[in-house]
This record gives sequence, C-alpha cells and structure tokens, in this order.
Amino acid sequence: MSEVLAAIELGGTKTVVALGDARGAILEEHRFPTTTPEETLDVALDWWRERASFQRLGIASFGPIRLDRRREDFGTFLTTPKRAWQQFSLVRYFQDRLPGVSIALDTDVQAALLAEMDRGAARGMSDALYLTVGTGIGAGLCCGGALVHGTLHPEMGHLLVRRHPEDDFAGVCPYHGDCWEGLASGPAIAQRWGKPAQLLPTDHAAWDMQAWYLAQGLYAACAMLSPQCLILGGGVSQAEGLHAKVATMLDACSAGYFEDLGARLVAPALGQQAGIIGALLLAAND
Ligand code: ADP
Ligand code: ZN
Repeated sequence: MSEVLAAIELGGTKTVVALGDARGAILEEHRFPTTTPEETLDVALDWWRERASFQRLGIASFGPIRLDRRREDFGTFLTTPKRAWQQFSLVRYFQDRLPGVSIALDTDVQAALLAEMDRGAARGMSDALYLTVGTGIGAGLCCGGALVHGTLHPEMGHLLVRRHPEDDFAGVCPYHGDCWEGLASGPAIAQRWGKPAQLLPTDHAAWDMQAWYLAQGLYAACAMLSPQCLILGGGVSQAEGLHAKVATMLDACSAGYFEDLGARLVAPALGQQAGIIGALLLAAND
C-alpha cells in the first residue's frame, strides 16, 4: 500500500483535515469550525490518530504566517485579526505532538493554486495566479513553476487601487481603509450597499463597480508577473455574470497594450477541494 499523508487546511471560519496519498488523492476528510488554536488543532490530531499513522503533514493556512524556515518564528501567525491566533506557533504545536513527522507549510491560497496547477484550471502551466474574493482578498502566485514567497508571502489584498469615480465608500481594511480588500471584499460590498453581495441583483450598480476594482488588481499582477492564467474564486466570484464583467474590464485596463488579458481569466476547477488537495501536495513535495 502507498504511503498515507496527513493534511490540514485552516480557514478563518472552517478547518478541513484529510488523509491521502502522495499524488493528492483524498482517502477521507472531515470539516469542522475553526475556533481557538488548541481546540481546533486537538480535533485535527485526534481525527488523524484514530485513523492512521503518518510521517508527513501538509498545512495550508490562513495568514499572515511566517513561511521562511530559516526564521526562528517559522510557522507563527503574525498580525491576524483572529486575536486568539496572533503569535500562535502552528508548526511548534505539531512538532511537539508529532515527533519525527515532517511538516510542509504554505498559505491556503498558495495551496489552492498548487492543486489547480496540478490537476485543475491551470494544469500544465508554470505561471499562474489564484485570487480568492470572499471575507478578504487573498492571492497565490506561481512564477516559473515556483510558488512565490519573498520575505513573507503575497498579500495582494492590500494593493492600492484607483478609485471608481462614483465611489465614496471609505473602505473596510483596518490598516489602509481603501486598499483592494478594503474596497472589494465581501464585507466591503455588504457595507457599501447595505446588504450582502449574494442579495444584490445581477443588474445592480454594485457589479460594474466590483468588476472595476477586481480588474485593477488583476491587471497589476499581469503587468508585474505576466501569468498565463488568472483563476478567480471565492464566495463573491460566484455572483452571476461577474466573471464576464471582470474579463471585459481587464481588457479595458489593458487598453490594447497587453494581449488577451480577459481571456486568461478562468473559474477554479476544484472548488472547495483545492485547498486540502494542495495541502496534501505540499506534504508530498516536501
Ligand atoms: P471565506 O472568505 O470566509 O472563506 P467565502 O469565500 O465563501 O468565505 O466568501 C464569503 C463572502 O462571499 C461573503 O461576503 C458573501 O457575502 C459572499 N458571497 C457568498 N456567496 C455569494 C454569491 N453567490 N454571490 C456573491 N457573493 C457571495
Ligand atoms: Zn489593507
């Protein structure tokens, strides 16, 4: 029998744990709410231990989190709005309780991108971006076949964007107010228009404005990295007709300078499974 690997995807509201193989095939998985660090991770440990022993663990986590293995605080959460998780060391928690198990760590969006590049919407590509627009805006980036980390990891949600001429909304980012996430995340839409995004009709003015903002951040990524593919996912991306509007706006931003930016925009192929499959692949590639 092939080796069994463990994986966990830690999200802001829910956590997924799984056991699978080195090709990223899930054998069994379990979803439960994310609460405090110890409570959440104890559930994960018990679930794995009841089912299998393993030597490799892949973690896909919300951020910001230290990914540089050379740093003493590798695997520690930084300034997350989830107060209970701030300064909590995820990697130390697992190292202490799973001696000898090797641990691979990346962000949830980078893991989702890895899975989409392995078998999904960006299969066979070397340069791609995965954008999720939900409670926040997060991005995973891969350049020349390598996930991009830099000194931390991509934080595209905090890009600064040009304001829509009819928008005087202050924005919801606690740090910057009107950064990209501050203007275009799900909570920004809900506050600006007085109701959640999924209740705004398709012909509401919110959607042209939303496409304006989403296209700008994606355009910035294209100008810097020239990816082959832009995967647009997350709760807000499910709004009917939004993909087509963003593609049109991307071409409008490009104004004929770049070729076919709008055509590079695609929907995720793996849906909710991308993060946990990516976590398994992180463990497998470690
Ligand atoms: P999270 O970011 O917490 O992982 P989601 O990706 O599901 O969660 O995003 C949640 C956000 O998506 C909420 O702000 C919600 O209003 C919005 N949303 C969910 N479904 C839709 C939809 N069908 N159309 C537009 N917005 C949606
Ligand atoms: Zn910000």
